Amino acid sequence: MTRFATRVIHAGEPRICGAVSIPVFQSSTFLHDPRSAAEGGYHEVRYARLSNTPGHLALQEKLAALEGAEAALLTSSGMAAISTTLLALLEPGDHVLAQEGLYGGTHTLLVRDLRRFGIECTFVDGNDPTAWGAARRPRTRLFYVEAMSNPLLQVADLPGIVEFCRTGGLLSVIDNTLATPVNFQPLRCGFDLCIHSCTKYLNGHSDLVAGVVVGGAALLTRIKHQLDRLGGALDPHACFLLHRGIKTVALRVRHQNDSALRIARFLSRHPAVRQVHYPGLESHPQHARAQALFQGFGGLLSLELQEGVAGVERLLSRTQLLIQAPSLGGVETLVTRPATTSHASLTPAERHRLGISDALLRISVGLEDPEDLIEDLAQALS
Ligand code: PLP
Repeated sequence: MTRFATRVIHAGEPRICGAVSIPVFQSSTFLHDPRSAAEGGYHEVRYARLSNTPGHLALQEKLAALEGAEAALLTSSGMAAISTTLLALLEPGDHVLAQEGLYGGTHTLLVRDLRRFGIECTFVDGNDPTAWGAARRPRTRLFYVEAMSNPLLQVADLPGIVEFCRTGGLLSVIDNTLATPVNFQPLRCGFDLCIHSCTKYLNGHSDLVAGVVVGGAALLTRIKHQLDRLGGALDPHACFLLHRGIKTVALRVRHQNDSALRIARFLSRHPAVRQVHYPGLESHPQHARAQALFQGFGGLLSLELQEGVAGVERLLSRTQLLIQAPSLGGVETLVTRPATTSHASLTPAERHRLGISDALLRISVGLEDPEDLIEDLAQALS
């Protein structure tokens, strides 16, 4: 098998009409042969909502190859991938174990929306196997975790979770958005399903919203059939843009790994900074595990300043290069306060319990020269 940086260029490239770059298949529908439709049934009818235009198929092949999966399914956003997967696999009365401190949208989906359908969720410490066993119920079906949690960059005991699920007959589902397949490929570690918000590092250019779920063919068929009915397919033009953006993911993420580590080290030594959350720092509680599991520590970090919210507001008003905006994984460095963006859907009490203070700042390191970013942060903190 070729290496990651080669696969990302050559997998899923059908060279249609000899085109080296896949064209945009901006067609909602395709010629229909009733004989082949009779064989494949509704879900094989070629139609953009059924995620099977040539653009979808090629990109799904590429994404499966990147994660070492049998199959991949594109969705219209990361949240569409998460919600469709959970709705496809869970029934009323089922129970989910989920790591504490997930992305706000996922947290809220679990505690509000799925509960309305009779699906219960218990949040557990991703590092405490005793708590998993204690929280487990007869109808626990699935364990949901993030490879690196957003925004505190916790690294759960991922091999332990895989083992717990395997022995207990649970499905293991991981959101690998922050780690990226450049740094970590969860299916190789034994996870059943891996989800990405492709909006972030996989596309990398802050110009589209997309998601993907990858895993075994049988599970992916169930999830595709659910997606076909829910309707959260990826638009053909976004398929094209994502296909283009993804080709540089290895280069981008390796640069972001290096820059974020340098910035995290600079910030951790700065007297105005109270705490930096970054798994690449020796001070991070799961640094050793991150080092053992990941090829790099990613481009996202979060921090708290000595002066709290007042200090954060001053920093944000002074920075020249960091763009104040939610989201992450793009070429430009973005800074945001999770309490007001990614985790605004949680109640203040929920955020407080998870350690997401109003003064927490999250930085998504882009592709600028890291020295310029450090100089900008230094002047903003001075
Ligand atoms: N998962 C993680 C870890 C995220 O950070 C986000 C968004 O920030 C999502 C999922 C949702 O992705 P999307 O905005 O593409 O729906």
